[in-house]
Amino acid sequence: MKIQFLGTAAAEGFPGSFCNCKYCEEVRKLGEKYYRTRSQAIIDGKLLIDMPADTYYHFLKNNIRGDEIETVIFTHTHGDHFYHKELEMRGAGYGKDMAVEKLNLLIPANGLAKIEKLGSHTKDIMNVQIAKPFETVTFGDYEITPLPARHGYGAIDANIYLIKKGDKHFLYGHDTGYFFDEVFDYFKNNNVYLDCLTLDCCYGSLPISDTGAHMGYPNVERVYNRLRENGNIDDKTVKIINHFSHNVNPVQYVLEEESKHLDCLVSYDGMVVEI
Ligand SMILES: [Zn+2]
Ligand SMILES: [Zn+2]
Ligand SMILES: [Zn+2]
Repeated sequence: MKIQFLGTAAAEGFPGSFCNCKYCEEVRKLGEKYYRTRSQAIIDGKLLIDMPADTYYHFLKNNIRGDEIETVIFTHTHGDHFYHKELEMRGAGYGKDMAVEKLNLLIPANGLAKIEKLGSHTKDIMNVQIAKPFETVTFGDYEITPLPARHGYGAIDANIYLIKKGDKHFLYGHDTGYFFDEVFDYFKNNNVYLDCLTLDCCYGSLPISDTGAHMGYPNVERVYNRLRENGNIDDKTVKIINHFSHNVNPVQYVLEEESKHLDCLVSYDGMVVEI
């Protein structure tokens, strides 16, 4: 499984679209290498996770062929993850000679009304399924299990995703606070071994309650500890943190220094991990 992180910022981006804080000013001076765009990832060039407004730029920058994407899964409907209008660029009159015509879409229940408003040229060539927590769906080589995220659960139908290909398991853990007990129980009861997991670390060193909608280093560490106790991760697991806010100065070398104790990779735009 080849996982590429296309965007690694929270909703505002870094520097923030309209922000003049000292961190955004600092990164403007450092230049494009340190910029972070809105969260998105792609697996094997076929399975796209989330669709922010930066999707078009991500495709260009990383030589991604949109017409070869087989499946798009949405974690939730917040604007930095759900710019579904981009899908209208597929199909008659917009996208021609596509390698993959019928696109699989896995969406949170509250996203359905928005998808239904897309033009028929788009809708007619999509297989739309609602993501139901703990119910695995199979698209091509991938078994995908939505798990409830602590991100306004119940109100906004947010999910994180466990993605299995062959004997490899990858957990995409954005956006979420500290996991619900039933999520830890799912991993434990099903003896899931995570080869790689990426976790929300939006707030870095800022103190965040375990009932919050995002995480920082202490919450991430508590998730690691509980998964390790339950046998779901070990020293070989590739651990990654992601989805950073400009409020905590997410310059790459700053985050790498601050997070050394977590023994994890700090994601950056364009980073590739193979498991
Ligand atoms: Zn987000
Ligand atoms: Zn800022
Ligand atoms: Zn969100």
